[in-house]
Amino acid sequence: MDVQNRLAAGNRHYVLEGNAALRQETAKNGQHPYAIVVCCSDSRVIPEEIFSASLGELFVIRVAGNVLDRHQLGSIEYAAAHLHVKLVVVMGHSDCGAVNAALHGEGSGFISYITEDILKTIGEERDPGKAARLHVQSGVERIRREFADHEEIGSIEVRGAVYELASGKVTWL
Ligand SMILES: [Zn+2]
Repeated sequence: MDVQNRLAAGNRHYVLEGNAALRQETAKNGQHPYAIVVCCSDSRVIPEEIFSASLGELFVIRVAGNVLDRHQLGSIEYAAAHLHVKLVVVMGHSDCGAVNAALHGEGSGFISYITEDILKTIGEERDPGKAARLHVQSGVERIRREFADHEEIGSIEVRGAVYELASGKVTWL
């Protein structure tokens, strides 16, 4: 089975076996997510699975290394100001390839945009676990700073978290 066929088969299964009632309800009545989650694109870090959430519950922004720039901030602003979400979670994870690449001075081409951003947030730290937490904390602080003077969402709550790949446990910072 080639990859597109694999995806198509997965979608057929989802259309038939997924929660059709919830799909229709959320398609008709819109989305009312209760949290914004900024996390890594790593295929093992799936917020809906990690937080036992379903359609319409989480507004998810995934980018390798959970880096933050204008597109991510714009997505947060949209969900907070227009969908009235009250909590943003910035979630890093153990053994993050993007953080490790930054620590080892790797990352060419477009990847360097990500690793350079991570290096700015971790400073001299070279321990992967501590670096991941520093990177998350920097994201939390940046979101607070960028929206501090925002008329509608200046008081939005922003929390940092780290997900542990093997145990599935989220530690709140
Ligand atoms: Zn990662």
